[in-house]
Amino acid sequence: MSQVRWEEIRSDEIEEINADLEVGRPTADIAIHYPDNLDRAHREKVNVELLLEGFRSAKAVFAQVGVQLRLVVIRSGPLDPKRFMIRSAKRGADLPMGQYSNMYVEAERNPSALTDEAVDTFRAVIGDSVKAEHTVHIVVLQAVFMDYFEPVIEGRVYQKQTIETSGLSFPGYMHGDLIPRDLRGVITITNLRRTKDSWKTVAHELGHKLMNVSHEHRDVSPAHEVQSDEGLMFYGKGTEIGRGPEGRFHYERLHRSPFLYVESEDGSRTYNPDYEASGFYYDPIYDGVSVEF
Ligand SMILES: [Zn+2]
Repeated sequence: MSQVRWEEIRSDEIEEINADLEVGRPTADIAIHYPDNLDRAHREKVNVELLLEGFRSAKAVFAQVGVQLRLVVIRSGPLDPKRFMIRSAKRGADLPMGQYSNMYVEAERNPSALTDEAVDTFRAVIGDSVKAEHTVHIVVLQAVFMDYFEPVIEGRVYQKQTIETSGLSFPGYMHGDLIPRDLRGVITITNLRRTKDSWKTVAHELGHKLMNVSHEHRDVSPAHEVQSDEGLMFYGKGTEIGRGPEGRFHYERLHRSPFLYVESEDGSRTYNPDYEASGFYYDPIYDGVSVEF
């Protein structure tokens, strides 16, 4: 796939944002990719200002728990307009979620692969970036659709629905190693104006990617999308990242993320150990910090 030529923008602002980074602290690299030819009407939903605001909010959220976010680059350039909208993934089994085990076990039994259009679009945008597999890539598109089964009568009738996402994190717990390694850091952002809490979208999506958890917090297991002002992983204004068993080990899982590294004075980096199995919720790197429920 030949990549279109994109340029790096806002380098002064990036330098200012990164000015407080310290050596010796756990850090994640974030790159932002923003097509500059999206339809004009989409710009009120996502633009570079909103992305920077989202990044700054995310940086503050993760600073609370000792993780630095480094904004490595903002790249911008033209994207083939037929790639502005994509369907995210093909489900491993075209079936509603089973009722007898938890969603992480179910997802590992039937992992989702990305659609070919998603893979092609991400490769066109990201290209062969250095450290691609260790960087979180925020890719702005106009629409990213996802299919799921909505129970109409519990345990009996389901309806397949297609939803349009505002942000989608393509997390390990959904895809395992069915997501190509150079794309495992991809997050799509399509709308930063959907609700009054959309300032938190970037932080929330990074939460999925870096903690490898769904919508869960404290005593709430992931099952449905949860509207609540508690917790980074709910929909609402909460930003808490819980600790220990009461906090579903979010803090501990974050600090084991293979995307995190520590840089030493000489500039060399030590990354956390990589996933030992396929990168699902119960990957061995999370031994002792996964919840059985
Ligand atoms: Zn979410």
